[in-house]
Amino acid sequence: MSNIKSIDLLRVSLPFDINGPRNGIRPGMAAWTKMESMMVRVNTTDGISGWGEAFGHFVNPGTFATLQGLVAPWYIGKDSRSIAPLLDQADRTFSGFGRGGPVRYALSAIDIALWDIAGQRAGQPVYRLLGGNTPTIGLYASLFRYGDPDAIARVSREAEAAGHAMIKLHEATIPNFMAAREALKPETHVSLDVGSPWTVGEARVIARAIRDKNFAWLEEPVWPPEDFAGLAQVRSEGMPISCGENVGTVHEFRAFFENGAIDVAQPSVIKIGGITEMRRVIALAEAHSVRMVPHCFYWGPGYNASAHMVAAQARPALLETAYLTFEDTINPTFNPKSGKLALPETPGLGFTPNAAALEKYTIAKATVA
Ligand SMILES: [Mg+2]
Repeated sequence: MSNIKSIDLLRVSLPFDINGPRNGIRPGMAAWTKMESMMVRVNTTDGISGWGEAFGHFVNPGTFATLQGLVAPWYIGKDSRSIAPLLDQADRTFSGFGRGGPVRYALSAIDIALWDIAGQRAGQPVYRLLGGNTPTIGLYASLFRYGDPDAIARVSREAEAAGHAMIKLHEATIPNFMAAREALKPETHVSLDVGSPWTVGEARVIARAIRDKNFAWLEEPVWPPEDFAGLAQVRSEGMPISCGENVGTVHEFRAFFENGAIDVAQPSVIKIGGITEMRRVIALAEAHSVRMVPHCFYWGPGYNASAHMVAAQARPALLETAYLTFEDTINPTFNPKSGKLALPETPGLGFTPNAAALEKYTIAKATVA
């Protein structure tokens, strides 16, 4: 027997620096100075503990409450080996409370922890359980929103010098795009995450203006992000399009693919339904000849899970890594100051937090048993 005995919830908040002006995630939000991780640790009756992570950041008060009051109690006593059936049963049970957002984030965290446990039980890193054979993967530097061309150029060059093959901007103007493009070597890729600001018509004008300027992809150009047919129109301008971090399940990815809306699928393992649902997205993306490059703007156990998913893919992909400097190290696997990551042969996800730092930066804690 290996049933779920208890689930620990830890909300962790770590100060960071970005070597430039600070802004909110989106216009209208306060400047970002600490990055949170909503961690879960699932403990089994046969003495194995696995780590997972739920999305995330500023919605964590809601995700924590959803885990504590609704989702985690449902998992207590269930068979920890029954990973995909548990995700699907929980989804049906809680679907009335949303198939995206904090409920789905909570299910994602527990699914990831159960995969960590499965790896430990098998004595294998998760990427090997998933059929992978490449322990070393490439990273790409995902920059914060600077809003200032000089800072964009300076930090882009710094990330390139650290070995990143691609720099991603969170900017939304052509002068800011060009500040990075002109600062970097032509062979260094630059991708553009604009955060769903435009109508289809506005996005088409921008796509036409930048399609010959050597950018890797234009991410989430259209509001709303699930305007599948509108995205396909933008894509018809000849600019590669990426999207996917802000949809709920594999079924919405099907709509992206069937509309011919995207070149790059970006499921987020701590939002979409964990490793189980992400495998379904990857299989469907393969069937439609769409590349999968995961969304991964986080640093906790979900970062390790994303790394294992990238290492398990037959098709190489770079792992998104938030380009910042933390005040302290909690997750030794997370190192944005290198363009490569060698996954350890540790069984499971290999998430081995620095215990003293974890304790110091935990701002809320609970155990469900
Ligand atoms: Mg994004």
